[in-house]
Amino acid sequence: MSASPTPSCGCINVFWDDGMLSHDTGRGVFHSGLKPTFLDVLEKHPENSDRVKNMVSILKRGPISPYISWHSGRSALLPELLSFHTQEYVNKLVEADRDGGREICYGTFLNPGSWDAALLAAGTTLSGMKHILDGHGRHAYALVRPPGHHAQPTQADGYCFLNNAGLAVKLALDSGCSKVAVIDIDVHHGNGTAEGFYRSSDALTISLHMNHGPWGPSHPRNGTVDELGEDKGFGYNLNIPLPNGTGNKGYEHAMIEVVVPAIEKFRPDMIVLVIGQDSSAFDPNGRQCLTMDGYREIGRIIRGLTDKYCDGRLLIVQEGGYHVTYSAYCLHATLEGVLNLPLPLLSDPIAYYPEDEAFAVKVIESIKRYHRETVPFLKEP
Ligand SMILES: [Zn+2]
Repeated sequence: MSASPTPSCGCINVFWDDGMLSHDTGRGVFHSGLKPTFLDVLEKHPENSDRVKNMVSILKRGPISPYISWHSGRSALLPELLSFHTQEYVNKLVEADRDGGREICYGTFLNPGSWDAALLAAGTTLSGMKHILDGHGRHAYALVRPPGHHAQPTQADGYCFLNNAGLAVKLALDSGCSKVAVIDIDVHHGNGTAEGFYRSSDALTISLHMNHGPWGPSHPRNGTVDELGEDKGFGYNLNIPLPNGTGNKGYEHAMIEVVVPAIEKFRPDMIVLVIGQDSSAFDPNGRQCLTMDGYREIGRIIRGLTDKYCDGRLLIVQEGGYHVTYSAYCLHATLEGVLNLPLPLLSDPIAYYPEDEAFAVKVIESIKRYHRETVPFLKEP
């Protein structure tokens, strides 16, 4: 397959730095770090560098590559982190790094090299946002790890240390944007971003997630519909907890029925799309059923919103997505949607057909009839 860029589709400016690969999360029983002796093969931590290496390679070698413009990243400076995080929390992370690293909270390992990668992820996301703010391009994608959307102003959580998207939203607001909308489609609740803007009406935070609820001291929020924000921010945090097993149709319905009307009313100057491919049908950490088609459609809907309300200005920020192959493919599909390409560029290598019970019943009936007509011992008397 080959593609020639269509001028009307534009291009996506991808911000990346391979220094982020140096965050080594280790191995263990899934993400626990436990090493019991009854297993010979210990799986890599789900948030490992392989997943992101494949995201880089598919954008470099996949059919979308002519539409991608590559940019390098940079490390965030410590004072820049204070727009979202407290000094005390940042000090805690700096000290943990200086002491050789440790598990900051459950499953969230700050190992040697992790802090440098976290600073790169934050700075690279800020570079993507600045690119848009300076008018150099309309669409930027911060391909970053460690992820950030669970990181709260004072607390690491769920593999996240620094809230990359939250820092970028703060930069936009401090640079003259009056309203920014965050739409988070990672399968997990974007609790950190919600927390950072919970009392603000300048940032509308919307999270579509599976109904996982709170998961311990680092993640106290429920992600339920009644968490709407507080004070001035009341109504500016919209949670959309979707039933487990929600797939392409369900996500599209949620986008059209809940997200689009909210954006139409809020009228942001900028949209930040927080993406996680862990809402795919094959993700080890997710229980939703999106396939490439579903991600493509979400990308297309977001593109429509940014064209209509934000002069096309869209920052995309990478979060989770733990299937090493399918996450890269779903990313490709999402960006195809954002480019609003007329036809899919890449077919789905592993999507299954959704169950069609009525068709299965019909097929089974015909097999049964054939057997009864043809197999002697099954023949009707
Ligand atoms: Zn996630």
